[in-house]
Amino acid sequence: RAQTVLGRNVDASGATLGQILDASGSVVASSDDRELKSLGAPNAAAASYFQAAIAGGEGRQFVKDAETGLAGYVASYPIRRENGEVIGVAMLKKSFDKLNASLQSFDRPFFFVDGDGAVMLSNRPNTLDRSLWPVRTRVTLAEQFGASGGPPMLASEITTAAWTTFDGRRGYVLRGAIPQSDWSMLIVSPLAGMFASRFLGIVITLQLALSTLFHFLGKQHGVRESLQMQRRADLQVLADNLEVKATTDPLTGLFNRAKFDLVLGHELIRAERYGTQLALIVYDIDHFKEVNDVHGHQAGDRVLVQLSEIVSCEIRKTDLLARWGGEEFVVVLPATDGMTACLVADKLGRAIAQATFDLVGTITCSFGVSDFVVGDSVETLLARTDNALYRAKINGRNRVEFAPASSNLAPTLELR
Ligand code: GH3
Ligand code: MG
Ligand code: MG
Repeated sequence: RAQTVLGRNVDASGATLGQILDASGSVVASSDDRELKSLGAPNAAAASYFQAAIAGGEGRQFVKDAETGLAGYVASYPIRRENGEVIGVAMLKKSFDKLNASLQSFDRPFFFVDGDGAVMLSNRPNTLDRSLWPVRTRVTLAEQFGASGGPPMLASEITTAAWTTFDGRRGYVLRGAIPQSDWSMLIVSPLAGMFASRFLGIVITLQLALSTLFHFLGKQHGVRESLQMQRRADLQVLADNLEVKATTDPLTGLFNRAKFDLVLGHELIRAERYGTQLALIVYDIDHFKEVNDVHGHQAGDRVLVQLSEIVSCEIRKTDLLARWGGEEFVVVLPATDGMTACLVADKLGRAIAQATFDLVGTITCSFGVSDFVVGDSVETLLARTDNALYRAKINGRNRVEFAPASSNLAPTLELR
């Protein structure tokens, strides 16, 4: 549920990441499962956005992506128990890259600064990570970003506007506040008068760009203040339940085919765009008709449930397991190559064959495996994997067959 709600907020706010942290700062849910996995559930306890929210306030913190060096920000708010006790923190992270790109062509020097005058975005690169003026509070830039810092560029804080010397030239600096934050935008112009309308324009642009940041927070205020609070909460639960119903197979509790189609489509686009790997496993219970015939349909259903539990425990959290149809299942394995997926399928096959199923005893499954190649569509990847499953069946069942991309050339109809 938390994961679903996070995903929705991330989508709605254009954020790059959403997380729920427990009271100790450990990540308990993340919109990006990979993040959880790769960082081993990183701890946010030291971050100021976390500390602000866990103390009951709302946090906003500039952050820098360690890999890309791009600036962004984190917005956070407390998660409370019904008695008001803060038990965790929700956060959204948004990147400034688009905003930055669109501002770079601006001809006047501009500085987007935090409450301390620390420069987060500027078209004067040598000013990044420095302060415009001597700072008040003290989490230094070096502490915050691991930046080299350097002395402040101006002798004192500019509150609204001032003549100053920048880049060795006299200029008029205007400062505009960004609503709902202690951030502001400063722009240097050679003249005081000519500039006001343009300045207004850019501050408005910036406000628009930042408004999504407050989506999360604004929504919370709205809900809190509204008389319809309970109604909205009920609707939210209803929406969540509907979403759960629409994406879940009622017998096994696994994702259903609709959800699988959606996820595979997304993962395919991701693999294509970022050149990452993606593998697919399809499996089908061997001689399941016999199981039904001998032990009855209910025993068959029970096998499907138990099988789902076994497989769920064997795969990674980042993999998506879905019931594709009757007794056929699929696993989407992001960031996984075909050979690794074959090992996973082999492991699943062993785990299934070794298990004892209520009323039935032992069963086996056959597996088809394939991996994404450039040019694949959902259909070609699925068809190839399904062919591999078909070969596993005709080659004796209880086995794994891999379909290399070249097998796309093989006519699928003949095999069916
Ligand atoms: P194979 O090894 O070739 O896969 O043989 P099979 O008997 O498993 O053949 P197939 O996959 O075509 O059979 C599917 C059977 O699965 C048909 C149906 O009786 C059974 N089945 C499908 N959905 C369900 C279900 O929800 N519950 C139960 N109990 N049985 C189901
Ligand atoms: Mg079948
Ligand atoms: Mg079968």
